[in-house]
Amino acid sequence: MRLILLGPPGAGKGTQAARLVAKHGIPQLSTGDMLRAAVAAGTPIGLKAKAVMEAGGLVSDEIVIGIISDRINEADAARGFILDGFPRTVAQAVALDTMLGEKQMKLRAVVELRVDQSKLVDRIIKRAEEARAAGQPVRKDDDPDVFKTRLEAYNRDTAVVAPYYDKRGQLTVIDGMKPVDDVTAAIEAALG
Ligand code: AMP
Repeated sequence: MRLILLGPPGAGKGTQAARLVAKHGIPQLSTGDMLRAAVAAGTPIGLKAKAVMEAGGLVSDEIVIGIISDRINEADAARGFILDGFPRTVAQAVALDTMLGEKQMKLRAVVELRVDQSKLVDRIIKRAEEARAAGQPVRKDDDPDVFKTRLEAYNRDTAVVAPYYDKRGQLTVIDGMKPVDDVTAAIEAALG
């Protein structure tokens, strides 16, 4: 089963992806997590991505397409995967089509978590507070000002990705403002 989760930062993609991983036993491929790991490890990709990520911008298509193309070739992705945070531009969506086409792989669903953007800054402040309370590191880009830049990047570059799939009849839009369990149920329903 191959699934894409779309939606702005703070929409709940990571939360829902974790639940899908537990239920379906397929990996979550989060380009954000992979890039943060690269930054922490100080790899050449991490060094290139660090400043852009901290400023709330988008890392180059070339880098993230390369990361995903390597990752979907790994053994644990053979049965399926959940893409979280990718594709974030139409160029990435086109590249993904090519990768999947070459492997004769099909997407089961593309789900957009639609949210009220005016509520997202509050959500992100809560996410930072929860991380702090749990003794976990707080993401630098969850700072409210950087978060606003991330939302701008979403509206400029990523909002066009959902219509890309909608035109092909592949998109399911789900109300991401509903309680977490309701969103999970709606995603499961979309998977059929
Ligand atoms: P996320 O964890 O998905 O919110 O991603 C955190 C940051 O990583 C984003 O703000 C971008 O700087 C970068 N990033 C993650 N995924 C992508 C992507 N598909 N394309 C470009 N940049 C990305």
